[in-house]
Amino acid sequence: HELVADGLIRSHVGKGSTVNSLQTIQHSLEGSSNTIRAEAQPVPVQPISWQNFYTSQSKRMHNPVLASILDEISNEDRISFALGSPAGEYYPLKELNEICQEIIRPGNWKAFEYASTIGHYPLRQYLANWFNSQGIDTNPQEILITSGSQQGLDLLTKVFLEPGDYVVMEEPSFLGAIGVFKSSGAHILTVPLDEEGLRTDVLEQILSRHRPKFIYTLPTFQNPTGTTMSLERRHQLLKLAYQFHIPIVEDDPYSELYYGEKSLPSLKSFDEHEHVIYLGTFSKMLFPGLRLGWCIAPSQLLEQLSLAKQHVDLHSSTTTQWIMTEFCNRGLLDIHLPLVRNHYKLQRDAMIAALEEYAPEGLSWTIPTGGYYIWCQLPQEMKATALLTKAAEKKVAFVPGNAFYVNSGGRSCIRLCFSRHSTSTIREGIFRLCRAISELINQ
Ligand code: PMP
Repeated sequence: HELVADGLIRSHVGKGSTVNSLQTIQHSLEGSSNTIRAEAQPVPVQPISWQNFYTSQSKRMHNPVLASILDEISNEDRISFALGSPAGEYYPLKELNEICQEIIRPGNWKAFEYASTIGHYPLRQYLANWFNSQGIDTNPQEILITSGSQQGLDLLTKVFLEPGDYVVMEEPSFLGAIGVFKSSGAHILTVPLDEEGLRTDVLEQILSRHRPKFIYTLPTFQNPTGTTMSLERRHQLLKLAYQFHIPIVEDDPYSELYYGEKSLPSLKSFDEHEHVIYLGTFSKMLFPGLRLGWCIAPSQLLEQLSLAKQHVDLHSSTTTQWIMTEFCNRGLLDIHLPLVRNHYKLQRDAMIAALEEYAPEGLSWTIPTGGYYIWCQLPQEMKATALLTKAAEKKVAFVPGNAFYVNSGGRSCIRLCFSRHSTSTIREGIFRLCRAISELINQ
């Protein structure tokens, strides 16, 4: 009776019921819509609690420091020594503009197509030649183009790590790597650094007790300490990897940025038994905006990494790979590198000079021979987080040391990045920072 009343069906005595035409139904619904609206009880809808739907891996993704460092770029009102980004005024924009005009032209649709996951062949060919000339025996089949080396770290994590696994890394270390390894649920075993790099004696003890999936290391101009692993340690590390049969992941974004003698050969160049997986990137030596890096690995492993990448983004941007290939093939990277090496050397010298001039007693720092970072030990075990607040009042920023530690540690250390500012701004920033430290001591 209700359906008849609502005009949804017609009832015929002795013949049952038939459904009305859509038009008739619509008409009767419109007619009765006022009554429906007046009578319908609103169903209370609770706001959705998204975290109840997350995977346990997703719940382990927590890296607030990395996010806030990335946000720093838009924070113009202070001198930030936090973000490890290149000097913008050195970006070769005129040359890139010319290249883009050639690539973005009618008919050149290929530069905008889907492409193979492993990456644009001419770019892999360029990189293979570049590494061959540095003593690394490789070929395009062993090179996967990634969307920055952060993606390389993520792919390695996807391929190798699951809850309950072990992974070894030096400490302090790159916070982006700590974040992604943690998210896998693997146990992170840490090895301390000294002035010669990763302590291989401690690593040996660890390897005799655990079987990690890989050893992650930054041998050259380490982030955050600026340390470079000595030649002897490099050989010891490889020997241990062979002895215990454990892969090494060598993360090497900074080795082209040397400010004196050329940097030491990579672990990969000494590797005769395919134990080293090498991560590289254009982000630090050129600029990060095109998001292009690479992973060099034995071809069998590279296939697996490609499968993982396929699931993430199919392939890195075709267009940016074309732009970068053209940039490199025109010899522009070779022209760019000496310019920025010279520039960053001046920045580093300016920061060291300012520290020498303004540092209160008890503040100590490293003197890197390349890369972007100076690592400072604060006086009197001062807490870096307390200093961060004080420094913010003086409009200067840095990254507190504990961000580079897996558990605790580094609480009275800070990382300063000198790459983004002019020498006069660096001087002013260090002056403000040292004032903040002194004020905190005297509080
Ligand atoms: N590894 C290290 C050691 C780094 O310092 C960085 C950037 N800070 C990365 C990887 C990620 O670089 P990208 O993804 O821009 O290539």
